[in-house]
Amino acid sequence: MEQLFSHTKIVATLGPATPTEDSLRELLEAGVNVCRINFSHGTIEQHAETLARVRRISAELGRAIAVLGDLCGPKIRLNTVADGIALETGQDVTFVRGDAVTKDAKTLTISYPQFVDEVNVGERVYIDDGLVRLLVTDREPDAIRCRCTVGGPISSRKGVNLPDTKLSVSAITDKDRADARWAIESGLDYVALSFVRTPADLAELRSHMASIGTPIPVIVKIEKTEALDYLDEFIAAADGVMIARGDLGVEMDIWRVPLVQKVIAQKCRAAGKPVIVATQMLQSMVGNPSPTRAEVSDVANAILDGTDAVMLSAESASGQYPIQSVVMMRRIAIAAEAYLAKHGREDVTGTVAASDRITSAISHGAIESARHLGAKLVAAWTSSGNTVRLLAKYRLDVPVVGLTSDIDVFRRLALLFGVIPIQVPGSSNPAEMAQTLDRVLLEKDLAQVGDLVIVVTSTNPHVKGKTDATLVHRVAKLQ
Ligand code: ATP
Ligand code: MG
Ligand code: MG
Repeated sequence: MEQLFSHTKIVATLGPATPTEDSLRELLEAGVNVCRINFSHGTIEQHAETLARVRRISAELGRAIAVLGDLCGPKIRLNTVADGIALETGQDVTFVRGDAVTKDAKTLTISYPQFVDEVNVGERVYIDDGLVRLLVTDREPDAIRCRCTVGGPISSRKGVNLPDTKLSVSAITDKDRADARWAIESGLDYVALSFVRTPADLAELRSHMASIGTPIPVIVKIEKTEALDYLDEFIAAADGVMIARGDLGVEMDIWRVPLVQKVIAQKCRAAGKPVIVATQMLQSMVGNPSPTRAEVSDVANAILDGTDAVMLSAESASGQYPIQSVVMMRRIAIAAEAYLAKHGREDVTGTVAASDRITSAISHGAIESARHLGAKLVAAWTSSGNTVRLLAKYRLDVPVVGLTSDIDVFRRLALLFGVIPIQVPGSSNPAEMAQTLDRVLLEKDLAQVGDLVIVVTSTNPHVKGKTDATLVHRVAKLQ
C-alpha cells in the first residue's frame, strides 16, 4: 500500500470490523498511530487478544503504535437488546428494573440500577448519542413510562444520556476498577476516563491505579457540561484530553460543540497536553465508501483547530470501510497541513507546569532555531517523553523525532502531533549519541548527509529529566 505521512495522528477504535490478525494488520498499515479499545464493548478475553495482535503487528512494522483503553466511567447503557428492534416515534416505552434481555420495543432494561428511582416525569432520556429520544411521562415503583419523541433502531450496549437528571452514580465504577487493573497488568499505554465531572474523579482513578502498580497516563474525556467548568484544572492535571463530541453533543446544546472544541484544543496546545477530537468524524463511512463533504470539512477543521489526533469510532470498529476511513483521514490531514504550512498557524502562549519550565524554555529555543535555520527536523533525547511533548505543542511543519530507549515512552509518543518515535539503545556518551542519531535518521530516510537538524539534549545524560541544551547538528556520513 502507498505510504502516506501526516503530522496529525489517527486514533482508531478496534472492534468486529477487523476480526482477524490479517485484517487488523491492513488497518494498522494504512496508518493508525493509536488503537482504542473501548471497555464498554466486547470482553476482556477479546481485548487481550486484540492487544497481543497490535503488539505483534507493531513489532513487525517497526513502528510505534500506542494502545488506549477507554474506561466506561459512569456511562449508562442499554443492556442486551435482541436484533432488529426499533422504537417508533409516538410509541410508549417502559423501563423496568433488572437486566433482562430486551426482546421487543415496549420494555427496556438499562445498566444503571437506580434509574427507576432517580429519573422524574418531564425529563429527557436519549439513546445512542441522542439518535433516539424519549420523554418520561409516568413513574411507578418499579417502572418508568416514556413516550418516544424521536424513533429509530436500538441495539445492545448503546449509551443512554439523561441530560435533565441529577444522578447519584459514582465517578469510577467497580467495572472501571477491574478494567484499570487489567490495563496496568497488560501494559496499556494510555487509559481514557469517560464522563468525568470534577478533577476529583481523575484523582480517584490515579490513586486506584497507584494502589495496583505502575500508573498509566490518563486522558480525560470531556463530555459533560460540568467538566467544562473545570477545564483548566483538568488540562493541568490530566496527561491528555479527548473532546468526546458524541456525549457532549447531547449533554449540551449541539450547536455550541464546535466552539467548545476550539477552546479545548487551543488550551491543550498552549499547555502542551495532547488533545484528540473524537466522534462521528467520518460517520457516513460506516456504511459508505466515501464521506460527506461536511465530514471531510469537520476533519480538516479539527486539524486547523490544532488537534494532535483525530479519532475513528464505529467507522473503524464496526463499519464496512475501516481501511478506507483511515486512508481518507490521512489524506484530509495532509491537505490541511499543507494549507497550514503555507499560511502559517497561530502561535501559542500559555503556562506549563512549574516543573517543566526549564524544558519548556529549551524547547521553545530549539523551535526558534529550527525555524530560523530551516532545519530538516528537530530531534530530542527523552527518557520520560516530556521534552518531546513540549516540542510537539508548537506544531512545526517538520517532524519532531523522539529518541528514547524506553519501550513504553516510545509507544506513548505515537499520539503526539508531528512526532516520529524511534527506539534507540540507551547511551550517555555524547559522541555515541550523535552517531546513533545520524544512523537512525539515514536508515529511516528522515534526513540526508549534510542536512541541518536541531537536537534537544542534556549536557549530563546520566541524570534523567534534565534537558538543558540545544545543538545545531549537521548529519554526517556513517563511519
Ligand atoms: P463511547 O461513548 O465510549 O464513545 P460508544 O458506544 O459511542 O461509546 P464507540 O467506541 O464510539 O462506542 O464505538 C461506536 C460503535 O462501534 C459502538 O456503539 C458499537 O456499536 C461499535 N463498537 C465499538 N467497539 C466495539 C467492540 N469491541 N465490539 C462491538 N462493537 C463495537
Ligand atoms: Mg462518550
Ligand atoms: Mg462514541
